[in-house]
Amino acid sequence: MSVMDLSGMDDALDFRAALVRAREAVETHVTRVDAMGHAWHETTLTDLLLEQAWPAMRALPFNQVQEGAVGADWLWWWLDQDGTAFGMLVQAKRLHADPWRIDYGYRGGAQLRDLLSAAEALSVPPVYCLYLGSKAFRAQFACDAHEEGDCARCHAATVSLQPGIIAAHAAALPVDFSIRQAIPLEYLGDPNQDTRPPLLAGMSLPADLEQFLYEDQRGANAVARHLLKRVIEVRAGQLSVDVGDVRVAPDQVYKDLPDDRGHLYEPYFPNILRGLRTSPPDYLHDLLAGRPVTATLPSSVAGVVVLTL
Ligand SMILES: [Zn+2]
Repeated sequence: MSVMDLSGMDDALDFRAALVRAREAVETHVTRVDAMGHAWHETTLTDLLLEQAWPAMRALPFNQVQEGAVGADWLWWWLDQDGTAFGMLVQAKRLHADPWRIDYGYRGGAQLRDLLSAAEALSVPPVYCLYLGSKAFRAQFACDAHEEGDCARCHAATVSLQPGIIAAHAAALPVDFSIRQAIPLEYLGDPNQDTRPPLLAGMSLPADLEQFLYEDQRGANAVARHLLKRVIEVRAGQLSVDVGDVRVAPDQVYKDLPDDRGHLYEPYFPNILRGLRTSPPDYLHDLLAGRPVTATLPSSVAGVVVLTL
């Protein structure tokens, strides 16, 4: 099946409805498991998410690592009908209670470092899929837009994405920072979300990048901008703007990017926008066509999840 064949299914799909349905299934599962007094696990929740969001989200495992795929990372590619693609390397993490924490630093920090370096090798942003439990589970962490009673955003936050560049920073902060900064998965690709970032004082931007940031965006562009917006919001709380040249991938949509990094571990424009491409990478074409993947990819990657926008 070619990329265009897959995108042709898109008319029949309500992408956001699929993500909402999947999140509701995850929320029901964690609520029942909490009532049982048992623990819920990332791999179970990811299976449930993929099952419920199919075919808006489709998992394509790599043959060579199928056996050891438990706990591995997945490459998510958000695909537009015109071929524009946004990739991210995703690792699932759950929110724990007693004490409240997200174990970004699992295995002495090696797991976080491996995710960041594998994402760099793939020229995509590292991203955490955070399973934050039910609204009742984290009742003490009300969201910033909290509504008394049955807050819709707190429900939506059950399955959230957190850019890895923020997570690397958040690992040293109280867990409520991560909970508040994470973006509900179902908000990505939702045309009703305002994904324009705040202005960064003292930074002059190339015209194409300024258009990307402040004019209407849809699809893969909007997903990339939503993540970038959240990173810029975190960055905006810090001092000093430092602008220069950065490396780019050849099929990257925006090539002339500021290298401002603030207190984050690396420049955030390229960290996010290296994943936004004019066309999907060769290994995704191979997978969609049912061919074996010949590209050399980091061994931690279990496969690809395709999200058709
Ligand atoms: Zn809320």
